[in-house]
Amino acid sequence: MDLRDTPEEAAFRAELRAWIETNLTDQIRRGRFEEAGRDWSRKLHEAGYAGLTWPQEYGGAGAPYSHQAIFLEEMARAEAPPHLGVIGLGMAGPTIIAHGTDAQKQKHLEKILSTEEIWCQGFSEPDAGSDLSAVRTTARRENGHFVVDGQKVWSSFAHIADWCILVTRSDPGSERHAGLTYMLVDMHAPGVEVRPLRQITGEAEFNEIFFTGVEVPEENVVGEIGGGWQVAMTTLLHERGTLGFALQAALEIAVRKLVSLARERGATPLQRDRIAREWIELQALRYTNLRALTSLVKTGIPGPEGSIAKLQWSEANQRLTKLALELLGPEAQLLGEAAFLGGYWQHQQLRSRGNTIEAGTSEILRNIVAERVLGLPRSR
Ligand SMILES: Cc1cc2nc3c(=O)[nH]c(=O)nc-3n(C[C@H](O)[C@H](O)[C@H](O)COP(=O)(O)OP(=O)(O)OC[C@H]3O[C@@H](n4cnc5c(N)ncnc54)[C@H](O)[C@@H]3O)c2cc1C
Repeated sequence: MDLRDTPEEAAFRAELRAWIETNLTDQIRRGRFEEAGRDWSRKLHEAGYAGLTWPQEYGGAGAPYSHQAIFLEEMARAEAPPHLGVIGLGMAGPTIIAHGTDAQKQKHLEKILSTEEIWCQGFSEPDAGSDLSAVRTTARRENGHFVVDGQKVWSSFAHIADWCILVTRSDPGSERHAGLTYMLVDMHAPGVEVRPLRQITGEAEFNEIFFTGVEVPEENVVGEIGGGWQVAMTTLLHERGTLGFALQAALEIAVRKLVSLARERGATPLQRDRIAREWIELQALRYTNLRALTSLVKTGIPGPEGSIAKLQWSEANQRLTKLALELLGPEAQLLGEAAFLGGYWQHQQLRSRGNTIEAGTSEILRNIVAERVLGLPRSR
């Protein structure tokens, strides 16, 4: 693979950089996530940057995956906020494109791109996290619709979501991967209750969702009734598969910030060694991403290599933020305005704890890499 941009990719990158320069205002950068995010997402959509790789018939740009990689890289380098529809764009949309009916595509895809619909992901439950096949939320079939009862947890964006991609157990006698049904659920339907959960950072990005007798029309089922496991796997491949370049760019920004902190505050020889290690990890991540992109371009489906990128980035980010706080010394105790960079490193360190849990814990990702990338024997 040629690691340089083709002339056409270089032109796309230059045009995108110029667009970001003009459109990413301080107001958007510093604004509250939801309002500023809606504004920013609308601009991205109008400029044709939302859903770059989606087919044109669904409002996408039909661009190659290399453009999506360039887009994620440039957005992270500019420290631009993400499109508000993280789950819609990255997971619900691609799953609907792969397994949805024509009616589902017509109804949702354009609205996901424009953020008219915000989506959340209802997979995890109090007793079903790493092992999604333990899902117990039930969906009972009744006169042309399903009645959903149960509880989901850790659902990011559920407090602002209009729709949810939900994994349910529709066959009461079934176990594990069989008897699951994947459906699109209206978050404004009677019987849906969202309760925000406060995180260690003080923010409440994720929620519990309670479903009590929620009626979901059968036409909202994605894939086969009872065939939800395969559909859920498509969602999870997309969750990790296309994020790699954004994670790499986010790590590059963090390493650069760490280097300038070390220059300003000084670092011991051992700390300098640790900084060098993070830079080397970053280069390794870059080549892993390029390898994953090659297989994505060939097959059109994200491969298990995405798990390596997520694992490397989340672990590196935790080590790196810890080192930054060590460099700050006693000043690391301060929070808010009084703190160095307004408490950037303190916030990053606290948030990084969740990074090694969300979208697959590090232990689960190591199992995936061992079994599906390296071909080692299955762990169970
Ligand atoms: C910030 C954040 C956002 C999230 N957003 C969402 C969301 O939007 N939607 C959603 O559905 N979920 C979301 N989650 C939930 C996330 O997917 C789960 O927390 C994750 O899958 C782990 O599940 P669990 O918390 O039940 O832990 P468990 O699965 O109970 O794991 C507990 C511990 O056991 C280890 N473990 C479990 N099984 C194995 C095994 N086979 N081998 C080795 N070790 C193992 C795990 O690594 C972990 O250390 C989010 C989580 C976080 C932190």
